[in-house]
Amino acid sequence: MRERDLIEWIRSQGCGAIPDRWVGPGDDCAIVTVGEHRVLITTDQVVDGVHVRVDRSGPRAAGRKALARNLSDVAAMAAQPLCATATVSLPKTFGDADAQAICEGLWDIGAQFNCPLVGGDVAVADGPLVVSVTVLARPDGIEPVLRSGAQPGDALCVTGELGGAWKTGRDLTFTPRIAAARALAQSCDLHAMIDLSDGLATDLRHLCAAAGVGAEVTAEAIPVHTDAGGLAEALGDGEDYELLFALPGDQADRLTADQPLDVHISRIGDIVAGDEVVLIGPDGRRVMPQAGWEHTT
Ligand SMILES: [Mg+2]
Repeated sequence: MRERDLIEWIRSQGCGAIPDRWVGPGDDCAIVTVGEHRVLITTDQVVDGVHVRVDRSGPRAAGRKALARNLSDVAAMAAQPLCATATVSLPKTFGDADAQAICEGLWDIGAQFNCPLVGGDVAVADGPLVVSVTVLARPDGIEPVLRSGAQPGDALCVTGELGGAWKTGRDLTFTPRIAAARALAQSCDLHAMIDLSDGLATDLRHLCAAAGVGAEVTAEAIPVHTDAGGLAEALGDGEDYELLFALPGDQADRLTADQPLDVHISRIGDIVAGDEVVLIGPDGRRVMPQAGWEHTT
C-alpha cells in the first residue's frame, strides 16, 4: 500500500473523532489545542537502508537526519520547534559508541534549532536501525501555513536548488528551512506550503490535491541543482527538504526580484483551476511525470 493511500484510508475512517478545529493527518504537521494554545506535532523516522545507509554515513548522521526531517515539516508550517522525543531500535550488532553517536547527532541539530530532546525509548532488535522522532512546535506569533490554501492565480515558488541530494549526501546535511519559512510568512500572504521530501513532482501533487486545484510548471524555471543529472532528477529524486509555496503573483515577483533570504527563491509556475498538474517544456505541455519518492508500506 502506498503511504498516500494509507493516509486517505485513515482519513476516511474518521481518525478517531478529531475535534473540528484540529488539523489531523495529511498535512506536514498536525495541529492540536492545549487550553488556549495551539501545538503542532509531527513524526518521522529514518530506517537504515531506506532513508540512510549507516555503513556509509555512520550512526551520527542517522540521528541528525531523523530530527532534521521533522524540523523540515515544522518549517513547512512556518512554525517554531519546541522539543523532541526519539525512539531508537538498535540492531544487535551496534555497540555503545554507535548508540551514543546517534544521540549526538540528535543533540547537535536539536541545539542548532532550539529543539531539545526531552525523552525517548531504546529497544534492541534483529532488524535494521530505526530512529523515530516526534517534534512539538508552536505558532509563536505566525499563523501556521497549511497545504490546503492554494488558489487559482497564485504563483508557485521554491527555495534552493533541486535534485541529486542522495548522490552527494545533501540529504544528510540539509538545513531545515525554518528561518526562511518564518521570514516568508511574516512578509507575504503564504496561501499554502509543503517541504520537498518526496520530490517536486509528487509534493506538488500533494499540495494541489489538498486544495482541489491544478498547477502549471515551466520546466526551464525549475532550479536544477548541479548535483542532479538533469530535470528528471530535480522533479523526482526527493530529499531536497526545500520549501514549495503558493502566494499572490505580485508578491512572488517582489520576492524573486529582491531575494531577501539567504536561500534563493525561484518562481516555477502557477496554480490553476482544475486538477491537472502540467509541465510546460520547450516541446509543449504534458502531464507532470509520475516521478518522486512514494513510500510503500
Ligand atoms: Mg513534509
